[in-house]
Amino acid sequence: MREIDGPACAAALLRWYDGAARVLPWRVSPAARAAGARADPYRVWLSEVMLQQTTVATVRDYFHRFTARWPDVHALAAAPEAEVLAEWAGLGYYARARNLIVCARAVAAAGGEFPHDRKALQALPGIGTYTSAAIAAIAYDAPETVVDGNVERVVARLFAETAPLPRSRPRLAELAARLTPQRRPGDFAQAMMDLGATVCTPRSPDCAACPVQGFCHAQALGIAAQLPAKAPKAAKPQRHGLAYIARRSDGALLLETRPPRGLLGGMPGWPGTDWPDAAQTPTPAPPLAADWRLTPGTVRHTFTHFHLSLQVAIAEVGPQAEAGRGQFRADFDPGALPTLMRKCWDHALAAFGDIGGGAPLR
Ligand code: SF4
Repeated sequence: MREIDGPACAAALLRWYDGAARVLPWRVSPAARAAGARADPYRVWLSEVMLQQTTVATVRDYFHRFTARWPDVHALAAAPEAEVLAEWAGLGYYARARNLIVCARAVAAAGGEFPHDRKALQALPGIGTYTSAAIAAIAYDAPETVVDGNVERVVARLFAETAPLPRSRPRLAELAARLTPQRRPGDFAQAMMDLGATVCTPRSPDCAACPVQGFCHAQALGIAAQLPAKAPKAAKPQRHGLAYIARRSDGALLLETRPPRGLLGGMPGWPGTDWPDAAQTPTPAPPLAADWRLTPGTVRHTFTHFHLSLQVAIAEVGPQAEAGRGQFRADFDPGALPTLMRKCWDHALAAFGDIGGGAPLR
């Protein structure tokens, strides 16, 4: 097994972090921490939940908007769910937003302080292994090891661990724990994240600029860019379906709230069919009787476990039209739609100007 002088490696990384830490809206700089400032657990939690599956560049604006509107956990706990979901629209993985609200309410009900202990944090909705470690380390400086994709990559390279992900995940966590110092574990966690995001990047690690180059086995072996090894991914299945967009003559649009559980749960969307596999035919489910027209082309979207191809049918209906599902909304805001539904709207928009065109939907 390849060895690394963990304390020396951590010290080198922290020296680099003291001068090169990224400025992030949820972060307390290393200089401020050294002067006694502490990160706000609410902001650490919120940022970490937002950053799951999403880039820092995307999260910044969302984070600013959320914290301007709901500056602490009590404010977020008191917010109506629909408003939080609307503010989250576009960030994806909407179960995170629903858990965010439930978690905020649980923390507020217990007095408003996030637990310090990792196990107690994990008892809260939506807080798993990673987020609990991040909050404990960054907000409370507990000596916890925080392992995200960036950290897995850095550790795989430092130790030249060639076993492929995801099988190597427990091993990489164990190796990362060996490097985690007792002093400044919160800064160390953030330094590892920064190193992975800015220097030890996936395709072209900048080893010449790396503060821990002298400890890195993959760099010495010339295999850095090949790590971490990954097991081949299974191809995602393809599904398909149909969305119905009805516009009333007064401009109101027919929207529904999706069921609370499942994909896009609790979010606003267009009524539609089920989304079966490509070999099956979606069950027609028009929300009202109308002269439905199929718009040309399809909307494509990728979820975690499948690709989706949606056709969009549109209809202009009279002022008295009533739907069997959903509600006509005059206060339609495209910005409050999740990305898939927004794509359907953008797709339909041009067709509404040409409502006579398009193939009739039989
Ligand atoms: Fe990554 Fe290169 Fe630094 Fe090793 S030396 S940790 S491969 S950037």
